[in-house]
Amino acid sequence: VLTVQGLSKWFGELEVLRGVDLTVRAGEVVCLVGPSGCGKSTLLRIAAGLETVQGGTVAVAGTPVRGPHPAVGVVFQEPRLMPWLTVAENIALGRRLVPALRAQVAELVVEMGLGDFLDALPKQLSGGMAQRVAIARGLFHHPELLLLDEPFSAVDALTRMRLQEMLLRVVRTRGTTMLLVTHDVDEAVYLADRVVVMSPRPGRIRCEIPVELPHPRSRHSPQLTSLRG
Ligand code: ATP
Ligand code: MG
Repeated sequence: VLTVQGLSKWFGELEVLRGVDLTVRAGEVVCLVGPSGCGKSTLLRIAAGLETVQGGTVAVAGTPVRGPHPAVGVVFQEPRLMPWLTVAENIALGRRLVPALRAQVAELVVEMGLGDFLDALPKQLSGGMAQRVAIARGLFHHPELLLLDEPFSAVDALTRMRLQEMLLRVVRTRGTTMLLVTHDVDEAVYLADRVVVMSPRPGRIRCEIPVELPHPRSRHSPQLTSLRG
């Protein structure tokens, strides 16, 4: 689904990415980890069509990326919701909520544990709930590729675990292809089929680590369940 080849990126005099090759296959969940400043966010923004590049190629579903792609969903560290739109309107990206569309939004909202908040405004939501809405918005159009940049780094530890479980359940159910940037190695190992490690600036791919089942988190599930009460 995503093919990056020989990518190089400079910000003025600063070389950020050098010869990056990365492939994310259909249905795969890949997590990208690496030290701060190695260019993870830049690579994600390039895949999202939000940055120009100086060399190499980037393609989504066989089409070169030349700007935001309708088949790509993006989730950032902060939810970036429109404060004047309801949860349902945010997820539908401002499209008019005719009954059929509203029903689709409602279904997704229930799946993501936000059932009571369809018509709430963002200011009524906790940080974790707002991030659920951002993920729902990213998934709503059934993207071929979902890109997430440290989506859970701004929420508390327990909320983070719940959101990780929810995200994994939703993307596995749908077979969504996902590339997620994190600096949390536990998160990467929990979520990913494959962890891609970047080296410090200029960012290059250092190694790729397949993650074998069962996931480490399964050992902690009873504990998590008891925390839920
Ligand atoms: P972190 O883990 O801290 O989020 P990162 O791996 O996501 O780091 P990037 O945000 O991709 O790193 O930044 C890589 C480098 O590029 C950094 O040195 C950063 O200062 C620089 N950089 C990022 N965006 C720009 C920009 N728009 N203009 C100039 N330099 C930039
Ligand atoms: Mg970053």
